[in-house]
Amino acid sequence: MAAKVEEFGLFIGGKWASPPKAKRFKTVNPATREPIASFVSGTAKDVDRAVTAAAKAFHSWKETPAPKRGDILLEAARILKERKPEVGKIVTREMGKVISEGLGDVQESIDFIEYMAGEGRRLFGETVPSELRSKFCLTVRQPKGVVACITPWNFPTAIPNWKIAAALISGNTIVFKPASNTARCALEVVRVYQDAGLPKGVLNFVTGPGGVVGNAMVSDPRVRTVSFTGGVETGREVYVRGAQGLKMVHLELGGKNPVILMEDADLDLALDGVLFGAFGTSGQRCTATSRLIVHKDVYDDFLGRLIARLDGFTVGDPLDPKTGMGPVASADQERKILEYIAIGKKEAKLRYGGTKLTGGAYDRGYFISPTIFETKHGTRISKEEIFGPVLSVIKVGSYEKAVRVANDVEYGLSSSIYTRDVNRAFRAMGDLEAGITYVNAPTIGAEVQLPFGGVKNTGNGGREAGSVAIDEFTEIKTVFIDFSSKLQKAQIEDGGGE
Ligand code: NDP
Repeated sequence: MAAKVEEFGLFIGGKWASPPKAKRFKTVNPATREPIASFVSGTAKDVDRAVTAAAKAFHSWKETPAPKRGDILLEAARILKERKPEVGKIVTREMGKVISEGLGDVQESIDFIEYMAGEGRRLFGETVPSELRSKFCLTVRQPKGVVACITPWNFPTAIPNWKIAAALISGNTIVFKPASNTARCALEVVRVYQDAGLPKGVLNFVTGPGGVVGNAMVSDPRVRTVSFTGGVETGREVYVRGAQGLKMVHLELGGKNPVILMEDADLDLALDGVLFGAFGTSGQRCTATSRLIVHKDVYDDFLGRLIARLDGFTVGDPLDPKTGMGPVASADQERKILEYIAIGKKEAKLRYGGTKLTGGAYDRGYFISPTIFETKHGTRISKEEIFGPVLSVIKVGSYEKAVRVANDVEYGLSSSIYTRDVNRAFRAMGDLEAGITYVNAPTIGAEVQLPFGGVKNTGNGGREAGSVAIDEFTEIKTVFIDFSSKLQKAQIEDGGGE
Protein backbone atom coordinates (compact mmCIF):
# COMPACT_ATOMS: atom_id res chain seq x y z
CA MET A 1 0.00 0.00 0.00
CA ALA A 2 1.34 3.46 -0.92
CA ALA A 3 2.39 5.63 2.04
CA LYS A 4 -0.11 8.32 2.95
CA VAL A 5 1.13 11.79 2.12
CA GLU A 6 0.46 14.87 4.19
CA GLU A 7 -2.67 16.79 3.15
CA PHE A 8 -2.90 20.57 3.10
CA GLY A 9 -5.81 22.97 2.75
CA LEU A 10 -6.24 26.46 1.38
CA PHE A 11 -5.31 29.52 3.42
CA ILE A 12 -8.17 32.01 3.28
CA GLY A 13 -8.95 34.79 5.76
CA GLY A 14 -6.21 33.58 8.10
CA LYS A 15 -7.45 29.97 8.33
CA TRP A 16 -6.13 26.76 6.82
CA ALA A 17 -9.04 24.62 5.67
CA SER A 18 -10.08 22.19 2.97
CA PRO A 19 -13.47 22.80 1.39
CA PRO A 20 -15.81 19.83 1.92
CA LYS A 21 -15.45 17.13 -0.76
CA ALA A 22 -12.60 19.03 -2.38
CA LYS A 23 -10.73 17.33 -5.19
CA ARG A 24 -7.02 16.91 -4.53
CA PHE A 25 -3.74 16.62 -6.38
CA LYS A 26 -0.28 15.54 -5.30
CA THR A 27 3.13 16.99 -5.89
CA VAL A 28 5.95 14.65 -6.77
CA ASN A 29 9.71 14.45 -6.24
CA PRO A 30 11.13 14.64 -9.79
CA ALA A 31 14.23 12.67 -8.73
CA THR A 32 12.24 9.67 -7.45
CA ARG A 33 8.61 10.21 -8.50
CA GLU A 34 7.60 9.75 -4.86
CA PRO A 35 4.61 11.84 -3.81
CA ILE A 36 5.44 14.75 -1.54
CA ALA A 37 2.15 16.24 -0.38
CA SER A 38 -1.49 16.56 -1.31
CA PHE A 39 -3.26 19.85 -2.05
CA VAL A 40 -6.75 21.09 -2.71
CA SER A 41 -7.63 21.48 -6.36
CA GLY A 42 -9.24 24.88 -5.83
CA THR A 43 -12.29 26.18 -7.69
CA ALA A 44 -13.62 29.55 -8.82
CA LYS A 45 -15.69 29.56 -5.62
CA ASP A 46 -12.55 29.26 -3.51
CA VAL A 47 -11.00 32.14 -5.43
CA ASP A 48 -14.11 34.20 -4.78
CA ARG A 49 -13.79 33.56 -1.04
CA ALA A 50 -10.09 34.41 -1.12
CA VAL A 51 -10.67 37.68 -2.98
CA THR A 52 -13.46 38.55 -0.54
CA ALA A 53 -11.10 37.97 2.39
CA ALA A 54 -8.37 40.03 0.74
CA ALA A 55 -10.79 42.87 -0.04
CA LYS A 56 -12.01 42.87 3.57
CA ALA A 57 -8.47 43.03 4.95
CA PHE A 58 -7.36 45.78 2.58
CA HIS A 59 -8.40 48.94 4.40
CA SER A 60 -6.78 48.06 7.68
CA TRP A 61 -3.56 46.85 6.01
CA LYS A 62 -3.38 49.99 3.89
CA GLU A 63 -3.77 52.10 7.04
CA THR A 64 -0.99 50.20 8.84
CA PRO A 65 2.07 52.48 8.69
CA ALA A 66 4.52 51.18 6.10
CA PRO A 67 7.40 50.84 8.65
CA LYS A 68 5.10 48.62 10.73
CA ARG A 69 4.39 46.53 7.65
CA GLY A 70 8.16 46.40 7.28
CA ASP A 71 8.51 45.04 10.81
CA ILE A 72 6.34 42.06 9.86
CA LEU A 73 8.47 41.49 6.76
CA LEU A 74 11.64 41.60 8.84
CA GLU A 75 10.17 39.03 11.19
CA ALA A 76 9.25 36.86 8.18
CA ALA A 77 12.85 37.11 6.95
CA ARG A 78 14.14 36.15 10.41
CA ILE A 79 11.86 33.10 10.55
CA LEU A 80 12.84 32.03 7.06
CA LYS A 81 16.53 32.32 7.99
CA GLU A 82 15.90 29.89 10.85
CA ARG A 83 14.03 27.53 8.53
CA LYS A 84 16.44 27.87 5.60
CA PRO A 85 18.01 24.37 5.86
CA GLU A 86 14.60 22.70 6.04
CA VAL A 87 12.93 24.84 3.34
CA GLY A 88 15.97 24.53 1.04
CA LYS A 89 15.58 20.76 1.26
CA ILE A 90 11.88 20.99 0.44
CA VAL A 91 12.77 23.05 -2.66
CA THR A 92 15.25 20.41 -3.78
CA ARG A 93 12.91 17.52 -3.11
CA GLU A 94 9.94 19.04 -4.86
CA MET A 95 11.55 20.98 -7.72
CA GLY A 96 14.74 19.00 -8.30
CA LYS A 97 17.41 21.72 -8.27
CA VAL A 98 20.62 20.70 -6.46
CA ILE A 99 20.72 21.44 -2.74
CA SER A 100 23.12 24.42 -2.99
CA GLU A 101 20.60 26.00 -5.38
CA GLY A 102 17.64 24.95 -3.23
CA LEU A 103 19.25 26.84 -0.35
CA GLY A 104 20.08 29.69 -2.75
CA ASP A 105 16.41 29.94 -3.69
CA VAL A 106 15.55 30.44 -0.02
CA GLN A 107 18.43 32.88 0.49
CA GLU A 108 17.15 34.98 -2.39
CA SER A 109 13.77 35.06 -0.64
CA ILE A 110 15.36 36.19 2.62
CA ASP A 111 17.42 38.87 0.88
CA PHE A 112 14.42 40.25 -0.94
CA ILE A 113 12.10 40.27 2.06
CA GLU A 114 14.74 42.17 4.06
CA TYR A 115 15.27 44.58 1.19
CA MET A 116 11.53 45.25 0.92
CA ALA A 117 11.22 45.65 4.71
CA GLY A 118 13.58 48.63 4.35
CA GLU A 119 11.32 50.00 1.64
CA GLY A 120 8.74 50.51 4.41
CA ARG A 121 10.83 53.49 5.49
CA ARG A 122 11.16 54.86 1.96
CA LEU A 123 8.22 54.37 -0.43
CA PHE A 124 9.39 57.68 -1.82
CA GLY A 125 7.20 60.15 -3.61
CA GLU A 126 8.35 63.44 -5.12
CA THR A 127 7.97 67.07 -4.23
CA VAL A 128 7.82 69.23 -7.32
CA PRO A 129 7.61 73.05 -7.51
CA SER A 130 4.31 74.60 -8.52
CA GLU A 131 4.11 77.29 -11.19
CA LEU A 132 1.81 79.21 -8.85
CA ARG A 133 2.59 81.00 -5.63
CA SER A 134 1.63 79.50 -2.27
CA LYS A 135 0.94 76.13 -3.78
CA PHE A 136 2.68 72.90 -2.82
CA CYS A 137 2.82 69.83 -5.09
CA LEU A 138 3.80 66.31 -4.20
CA THR A 139 3.21 62.69 -5.08
CA VAL A 140 2.50 59.81 -2.73
CA ARG A 141 2.40 56.09 -3.38
CA GLN A 142 -0.80 54.26 -2.62
CA PRO A 143 -1.49 50.53 -2.74
CA LYS A 144 -3.54 49.12 -5.61
CA GLY A 145 -5.91 46.99 -3.52
CA VAL A 146 -6.24 43.24 -4.04
CA VAL A 147 -3.46 41.83 -6.20
CA ALA A 148 -3.14 38.39 -7.78
CA CYS A 149 0.26 36.68 -7.71
CA ILE A 150 0.67 33.71 -10.05
CA THR A 151 4.05 32.02 -9.96
CA PRO A 152 6.04 29.25 -11.71
CA TRP A 153 7.91 26.27 -10.33
CA ASN A 154 11.51 27.10 -11.20
CA PHE A 155 12.13 29.45 -8.25
CA PRO A 156 9.39 28.11 -6.02
CA THR A 157 10.13 30.32 -2.99
CA ALA A 158 12.07 33.23 -4.50
CA ILE A 159 9.61 34.26 -7.23
CA PRO A 160 6.60 34.16 -4.88
CA ASN A 161 8.54 36.27 -2.39
CA TRP A 162 9.58 38.79 -5.06
CA LYS A 163 5.92 39.43 -5.65
CA ILE A 164 4.49 38.97 -2.15
CA ALA A 165 7.03 41.06 -0.23
CA ALA A 166 6.79 43.96 -2.72
CA ALA A 167 2.99 43.82 -2.75
CA LEU A 168 2.77 43.68 1.06
CA ILE A 169 5.14 46.52 1.82
CA SER A 170 3.19 48.65 -0.65
CA GLY A 171 0.00 48.00 1.38
CA ASN A 172 -1.82 45.58 -0.91
CA THR A 173 -3.61 42.39 0.04
CA ILE A 174 -2.97 39.25 -1.96
CA VAL A 175 -4.40 36.13 -3.49
CA PHE A 176 -1.49 33.84 -4.29
CA LYS A 177 -1.61 30.84 -6.62
CA PRO A 178 1.62 28.87 -6.98
CA ALA A 179 2.62 26.47 -9.75
CA SER A 180 0.82 23.23 -8.99
CA ASN A 181 3.95 21.08 -9.01
CA THR A 182 5.72 23.14 -6.33
CA ALA A 183 2.80 23.85 -4.00
CA ARG A 184 4.66 22.43 -0.98
CA CYS A 185 7.41 25.04 -1.36
CA ALA A 186 4.78 27.76 -1.75
CA LEU A 187 3.10 26.62 1.44
CA GLU A 188 6.33 27.32 3.33
CA VAL A 189 6.30 30.85 1.94
CA VAL A 190 2.78 31.42 3.25
CA ARG A 191 3.57 29.92 6.65
CA VAL A 192 6.47 32.26 7.16
CA TYR A 193 4.26 35.34 6.74
CA GLN A 194 1.53 33.81 8.86
CA ASP A 195 4.01 33.06 11.65
CA ALA A 196 5.47 36.56 11.36
CA GLY A 197 2.08 37.95 12.41
CA LEU A 198 0.55 39.08 9.12
CA PRO A 199 -3.09 40.00 9.88
CA LYS A 200 -5.70 37.56 8.61
CA GLY A 201 -6.91 38.00 5.07
CA VAL A 202 -3.84 39.97 3.96
CA LEU A 203 -2.28 36.96 2.22
CA ASN A 204 -4.52 34.20 0.87
CA PHE A 205 -3.33 31.00 -0.77
CA VAL A 206 -5.34 29.02 -3.29
CA THR A 207 -3.86 25.94 -4.94
CA GLY A 208 -5.28 24.32 -8.04
CA PRO A 209 -5.05 24.28 -11.82
CA GLY A 210 -4.01 27.46 -13.61
CA GLY A 211 -6.90 27.16 -16.05
CA VAL A 212 -9.39 27.25 -13.15
CA VAL A 213 -7.85 29.10 -10.20
CA GLY A 214 -5.62 31.40 -12.28
CA ASN A 215 -8.45 32.27 -14.66
CA ALA A 216 -10.81 33.08 -11.81
CA MET A 217 -8.20 35.33 -10.16
CA VAL A 218 -7.49 37.24 -13.34
CA SER A 219 -11.20 37.60 -14.17
CA ASP A 220 -12.33 38.84 -10.74
CA PRO A 221 -13.21 42.55 -11.05
CA ARG A 222 -11.99 43.21 -7.49
CA VAL A 223 -8.42 42.22 -8.48
CA ARG A 224 -6.75 45.35 -9.87
CA THR A 225 -3.26 44.04 -10.56
CA VAL A 226 -2.01 40.67 -11.74
CA SER A 227 1.62 39.74 -11.34
CA PHE A 228 2.49 36.70 -13.44
CA THR A 229 5.68 34.75 -14.12
CA GLY A 230 5.62 31.75 -16.43
CA GLY A 231 5.50 30.70 -20.06
CA VAL A 232 4.76 33.02 -22.99
CA GLU A 233 1.57 31.28 -24.09
CA THR A 234 0.05 31.43 -20.62
CA GLY A 235 1.29 34.99 -20.17
CA ARG A 236 -0.45 36.05 -23.36
CA GLU A 237 -3.70 34.46 -22.20
CA VAL A 238 -3.46 36.15 -18.81
CA TYR A 239 -2.72 39.50 -20.46
CA VAL A 240 -5.74 39.27 -22.77
CA ARG A 241 -8.04 38.19 -19.95
CA GLY A 242 -6.74 40.95 -17.68
CA ALA A 243 -7.21 43.51 -20.45
CA GLN A 244 -10.95 42.79 -20.46
CA GLY A 245 -11.06 44.18 -16.94
CA LEU A 246 -8.59 47.00 -17.78
CA LYS A 247 -6.22 45.62 -15.17
CA MET A 248 -2.57 46.23 -14.82
CA VAL A 249 -0.94 42.92 -15.77
CA HIS A 250 2.75 42.48 -15.08
CA LEU A 251 4.33 39.68 -17.11
CA GLU A 252 7.72 38.07 -16.68
CA LEU A 253 8.09 35.38 -19.35
CA GLY A 254 10.71 33.45 -21.26
CA GLY A 255 14.22 33.91 -22.52
CA LYS A 256 16.74 32.58 -25.03
CA ASN A 257 19.75 34.05 -23.38
CA PRO A 258 23.08 34.32 -25.20
CA VAL A 259 26.65 34.33 -24.00
CA ILE A 260 28.95 35.96 -26.56
CA LEU A 261 32.50 34.70 -26.31
CA MET A 262 35.02 36.92 -28.08
CA GLU A 263 38.48 35.91 -29.23
CA ASP A 264 40.15 37.94 -26.46
CA ALA A 265 38.09 36.43 -23.62
CA ASP A 266 39.51 34.73 -20.54
CA LEU A 267 38.51 31.23 -21.62
CA ASP A 268 38.92 29.61 -18.20
CA LEU A 269 36.63 32.16 -16.64
CA ALA A 270 34.13 31.74 -19.47
CA LEU A 271 34.20 27.97 -19.10
CA ASP A 272 33.01 28.12 -15.49
CA GLY A 273 30.41 30.74 -16.42
CA VAL A 274 28.97 28.84 -19.38
CA LEU A 275 28.72 25.58 -17.42
CA PHE A 276 26.91 27.28 -14.55
CA GLY A 277 24.72 29.38 -16.84
CA ALA A 278 23.67 26.54 -19.12
CA PHE A 279 23.32 23.63 -16.73
CA GLY A 280 22.59 25.22 -13.33
CA THR A 281 19.00 24.38 -12.29
CA SER A 282 19.08 21.91 -15.23
CA GLY A 283 18.80 24.91 -17.57
CA GLN A 284 15.39 25.78 -16.13
CA ARG A 285 16.04 29.38 -15.18
CA CYS A 286 14.42 32.06 -17.27
CA THR A 287 17.92 33.56 -17.47
CA ALA A 288 19.67 30.26 -18.30
CA THR A 289 22.36 30.39 -20.97
CA SER A 290 20.79 28.59 -23.90
CA ARG A 291 23.00 29.99 -26.70
CA LEU A 292 26.75 30.25 -26.82
CA ILE A 293 27.91 32.51 -29.64
CA VAL A 294 31.64 31.99 -30.12
CA HIS A 295 34.22 33.84 -32.20
CA LYS A 296 35.74 31.50 -34.81
CA ASP A 297 39.32 32.04 -33.53
CA VAL A 298 38.57 30.34 -30.19
CA TYR A 299 35.67 28.15 -31.28
CA ASP A 300 37.33 24.71 -31.54
CA ASP A 301 39.49 25.23 -28.49
CA PHE A 302 36.61 26.38 -26.30
CA LEU A 303 34.11 23.78 -27.43
CA GLY A 304 36.66 21.01 -26.86
CA ARG A 305 37.32 22.24 -23.34
CA LEU A 306 33.61 22.61 -22.58
CA ILE A 307 32.88 19.07 -23.65
CA ALA A 308 35.85 17.75 -21.67
CA ARG A 309 34.53 19.47 -18.54
CA LEU A 310 31.13 17.82 -18.96
CA ASP A 311 32.74 14.40 -18.68
CA GLY A 312 33.40 15.16 -15.02
CA PHE A 313 29.94 16.60 -14.41
CA THR A 314 27.67 14.41 -12.26
CA VAL A 315 23.96 14.22 -12.84
CA GLY A 316 22.00 12.56 -10.07
CA ASP A 317 20.56 12.91 -6.59
CA PRO A 318 20.04 16.66 -6.08
CA LEU A 319 20.28 16.26 -2.29
CA ASP A 320 23.87 15.01 -2.62
CA PRO A 321 26.14 18.10 -2.37
CA LYS A 322 28.54 16.59 -4.92
CA THR A 323 25.90 16.40 -7.68
CA GLY A 324 26.35 18.94 -10.49
CA MET A 325 22.85 18.72 -11.95
CA GLY A 326 19.60 17.20 -10.71
CA PRO A 327 16.55 16.03 -12.64
CA VAL A 328 14.31 18.30 -14.68
CA ALA A 329 11.26 19.47 -12.78
CA SER A 330 8.45 17.27 -14.06
CA ALA A 331 7.26 14.69 -16.58
CA ASP A 332 5.99 17.57 -18.76
CA GLN A 333 9.37 19.25 -18.68
CA GLU A 334 11.09 15.98 -19.56
CA ARG A 335 8.76 15.38 -22.50
CA LYS A 336 9.18 18.89 -23.88
CA ILE A 337 12.98 18.90 -23.55
CA LEU A 338 13.32 15.47 -25.18
CA GLU A 339 11.14 16.69 -28.04
CA TYR A 340 13.52 19.60 -28.60
CA ILE A 341 16.51 17.26 -28.42
CA ALA A 342 14.91 15.12 -31.15
CA ILE A 343 14.40 18.27 -33.26
CA GLY A 344 18.03 19.26 -32.62
CA LYS A 345 19.29 15.87 -33.78
CA LYS A 346 17.63 16.48 -37.14
CA GLU A 347 18.68 20.07 -37.71
CA ALA A 348 22.04 20.39 -35.93
CA LYS A 349 25.13 18.44 -34.89
CA LEU A 350 24.90 16.78 -31.47
CA ARG A 351 28.22 17.18 -29.64
CA TYR A 352 27.36 15.98 -26.15
CA GLY A 353 24.56 14.17 -24.31
CA GLY A 354 21.19 14.26 -26.01
CA THR A 355 19.64 11.41 -24.05
CA LYS A 356 17.31 10.61 -21.23
CA LEU A 357 19.48 9.04 -18.55
CA THR A 358 18.46 5.52 -17.64
CA GLY A 359 19.52 2.69 -15.36
CA GLY A 360 19.54 2.45 -11.55
CA ALA A 361 18.24 5.51 -9.73
CA TYR A 362 17.83 7.37 -13.03
CA ASP A 363 14.87 5.13 -13.89
CA ARG A 364 12.87 6.54 -11.02
CA GLY A 365 13.17 10.22 -12.01
CA TYR A 366 13.29 12.70 -14.87
CA PHE A 367 16.98 12.85 -15.70
CA ILE A 368 18.37 14.24 -18.94
CA SER A 369 22.04 14.48 -19.82
CA PRO A 370 23.55 17.94 -20.27
CA THR A 371 23.33 18.43 -24.02
CA ILE A 372 25.35 20.47 -26.51
CA PHE A 373 24.51 21.05 -30.16
CA GLU A 374 26.63 22.83 -32.74
CA THR A 375 24.19 24.69 -34.89
CA LYS A 376 23.78 27.47 -37.39
CA HIS A 377 21.77 30.45 -36.23
CA GLY A 378 18.17 30.13 -37.38
CA THR A 379 17.42 26.53 -36.40
CA ARG A 380 14.53 25.95 -34.02
CA ILE A 381 16.81 24.91 -31.16
CA SER A 382 18.80 28.14 -31.63
CA LYS A 383 15.70 30.35 -31.47
CA GLU A 384 12.98 28.75 -29.34
CA GLU A 385 12.97 28.55 -25.56
CA ILE A 386 13.71 24.96 -24.49
CA PHE A 387 13.95 25.54 -20.72
CA GLY A 388 16.22 22.59 -20.12
CA PRO A 389 19.90 21.57 -20.08
CA VAL A 390 20.41 22.10 -23.80
CA LEU A 391 23.03 24.52 -25.14
CA SER A 392 23.19 25.63 -28.78
CA VAL A 393 26.68 26.69 -29.86
CA ILE A 394 26.94 29.04 -32.83
CA LYS A 395 30.15 30.12 -34.61
CA VAL A 396 30.55 33.75 -35.73
CA GLY A 397 33.36 35.74 -37.36
CA SER A 398 32.97 39.16 -35.75
CA TYR A 399 31.51 41.14 -32.86
CA GLU A 400 28.92 42.66 -35.19
CA LYS A 401 27.72 39.23 -36.33
CA ALA A 402 27.64 38.00 -32.73
CA VAL A 403 25.35 40.86 -31.72
CA ARG A 404 23.08 40.33 -34.75
CA VAL A 405 22.69 36.65 -33.84
CA ALA A 406 22.21 37.43 -30.14
CA ASN A 407 19.42 39.88 -30.92
CA ASP A 408 17.63 37.83 -33.56
CA VAL A 409 15.22 35.99 -31.24
CA GLU A 410 11.80 36.89 -29.90
CA TYR A 411 13.04 37.24 -26.30
CA GLY A 412 15.29 39.70 -24.51
CA LEU A 413 15.80 38.81 -20.87
CA SER A 414 19.48 38.26 -20.09
CA SER A 415 22.68 38.43 -22.14
CA SER A 416 26.40 38.23 -21.57
CA ILE A 417 29.71 38.98 -23.24
CA TYR A 418 33.14 37.67 -22.33
CA THR A 419 35.86 40.02 -23.57
CA ARG A 420 38.91 41.82 -22.21
CA ASP A 421 38.30 44.79 -24.50
CA VAL A 422 36.67 47.49 -22.39
CA ASN A 423 35.45 49.41 -25.45
CA ARG A 424 33.68 46.35 -26.76
CA ALA A 425 32.18 45.62 -23.33
CA PHE A 426 30.66 49.08 -23.22
CA ARG A 427 29.40 48.78 -26.80
CA ALA A 428 27.72 45.47 -25.92
CA MET A 429 25.97 47.13 -23.00
CA GLY A 430 24.14 49.28 -25.53
CA ASP A 431 23.93 46.84 -28.44
CA LEU A 432 22.40 43.77 -26.76
CA GLU A 433 18.61 43.82 -26.81
CA ALA A 434 17.95 42.51 -23.32
CA GLY A 435 16.80 43.72 -19.92
CA ILE A 436 20.02 42.45 -18.35
CA THR A 437 23.61 42.36 -19.67
CA TYR A 438 26.53 40.77 -17.84
CA VAL A 439 30.17 41.42 -18.72
CA ASN A 440 32.56 38.56 -17.95
CA ALA A 441 29.88 36.68 -16.01
CA PRO A 442 27.17 34.20 -17.06
CA THR A 443 23.59 35.15 -17.91
CA ILE A 444 22.37 34.09 -14.46
CA GLY A 445 23.03 35.73 -11.12
CA ALA A 446 20.33 38.29 -10.35
CA GLU A 447 20.73 40.33 -7.17
CA VAL A 448 17.59 41.46 -5.39
CA GLN A 449 18.57 45.13 -5.13
CA LEU A 450 18.64 45.48 -8.93
CA PRO A 451 15.73 45.49 -11.35
CA PHE A 452 14.91 42.25 -13.14
CA GLY A 453 12.97 41.89 -16.38
CA GLY A 454 13.30 41.89 -20.11
CA VAL A 455 12.39 43.38 -23.47
CA LYS A 456 10.50 42.00 -26.49
CA ASN A 457 8.41 38.88 -25.72
CA THR A 458 10.04 38.44 -22.32
CA GLY A 459 7.45 40.71 -20.79
CA ASN A 460 5.41 43.83 -21.16
CA GLY A 461 7.80 46.42 -19.86
CA GLY A 462 7.70 46.09 -16.08
CA ARG A 463 10.52 45.16 -13.75
CA GLU A 464 10.63 43.16 -10.55
CA ALA A 465 13.14 43.55 -7.70
CA GLY A 466 15.30 46.58 -7.11
CA SER A 467 13.91 49.90 -5.95
CA VAL A 468 11.43 49.80 -8.87
CA ALA A 469 9.78 46.61 -7.54
CA ILE A 470 7.14 48.72 -5.83
CA ASP A 471 6.12 50.43 -9.09
CA GLU A 472 4.10 47.36 -10.02
CA PHE A 473 2.19 47.46 -6.76
CA THR A 474 1.57 51.16 -6.17
CA GLU A 475 -0.46 53.92 -7.73
CA ILE A 476 1.04 57.36 -7.81
CA LYS A 477 -1.29 59.99 -6.41
CA THR A 478 -0.54 63.62 -7.22
CA VAL A 479 -1.52 66.12 -4.54
CA PHE A 480 -1.83 69.91 -4.94
CA ILE A 481 -2.09 71.99 -1.75
CA ASP A 482 -3.04 75.59 -2.31
CA PHE A 483 -2.38 77.77 0.74
CA SER A 484 -2.94 81.12 -1.01
CA SER A 485 -6.57 81.34 0.16
CA LYS A 486 -7.70 82.36 -3.33
CA LEU A 487 -8.58 80.57 -6.54
CA GLN A 488 -5.41 80.24 -8.60
CA LYS A 489 -5.49 78.96 -12.17
CA ALA A 490 -2.66 77.04 -13.81
CA GLN A 491 -1.47 77.75 -17.38
CA ILE A 492 -3.65 80.74 -18.06
CA GLU A 493 -3.96 83.93 -16.12
CA ASP A 494 -7.68 84.30 -16.61
CA GLY A 495 -9.02 80.84 -17.37
CA GLY A 496 -9.08 77.34 -16.01
CA GLY A 497 -6.44 74.62 -16.04
CA GLU A 498 -7.14 70.90 -16.37
P1 NDP B 1 2.89 28.08 -17.13
O1 NDP B 1 3.04 29.40 -17.75
O2 NDP B 1 1.85 27.17 -17.63
O3 NDP B 1 2.66 28.21 -15.56
C1 NDP B 1 3.02 29.32 -14.77
C2 NDP B 1 1.94 29.60 -13.74
O4 NDP B 1 0.72 29.98 -14.41
C3 NDP B 1 1.55 28.39 -12.91
O5 NDP B 1 1.19 28.81 -11.62
C4 NDP B 1 0.33 27.85 -13.64
O6 NDP B 1 -0.50 27.04 -12.84
C5 NDP B 1 -0.35 29.16 -14.00
N1 NDP B 1 -1.32 29.06 -15.08
C6 NDP B 1 -1.46 28.10 -16.03
N2 NDP B 1 -2.48 28.40 -16.85
C7 NDP B 1 -3.03 29.56 -16.41
C8 NDP B 1 -4.10 30.37 -16.83
N3 NDP B 1 -4.85 30.06 -17.88
N4 NDP B 1 -4.38 31.51 -16.15
C9 NDP B 1 -3.63 31.86 -15.10
N5 NDP B 1 -2.60 31.12 -14.63
C10 NDP B 1 -2.28 29.99 -15.29
O7 NDP B 1 4.29 27.39 -17.19
P2 NDP B 1 4.59 25.83 -17.19
O8 NDP B 1 4.86 25.42 -15.84
O9 NDP B 1 3.59 25.03 -17.94
O10 NDP B 1 5.88 25.86 -18.08
C11 NDP B 1 5.75 25.99 -19.48
C12 NDP B 1 6.92 26.76 -20.03
O11 NDP B 1 6.91 28.09 -19.54
C13 NDP B 1 8.28 26.26 -19.61
O12 NDP B 1 8.70 25.16 -20.31
C14 NDP B 1 9.10 27.48 -19.84
O13 NDP B 1 9.37 27.60 -21.20
C15 NDP B 1 8.20 28.59 -19.42
N6 NDP B 1 8.44 29.03 -18.03
C16 NDP B 1 9.08 30.21 -17.84
C17 NDP B 1 9.36 30.60 -16.56
C18 NDP B 1 10.07 31.86 -16.27
O14 NDP B 1 10.63 31.98 -15.20
N7 NDP B 1 10.03 32.83 -17.14
C19 NDP B 1 9.00 29.80 -15.40
C20 NDP B 1 8.28 28.60 -15.72
C21 NDP B 1 8.01 28.26 -16.99
P3 NDP B 1 -0.39 25.44 -12.90
O15 NDP B 1 0.96 25.10 -12.39
O16 NDP B 1 -1.50 25.00 -12.04
O17 NDP B 1 -0.57 25.06 -14.35
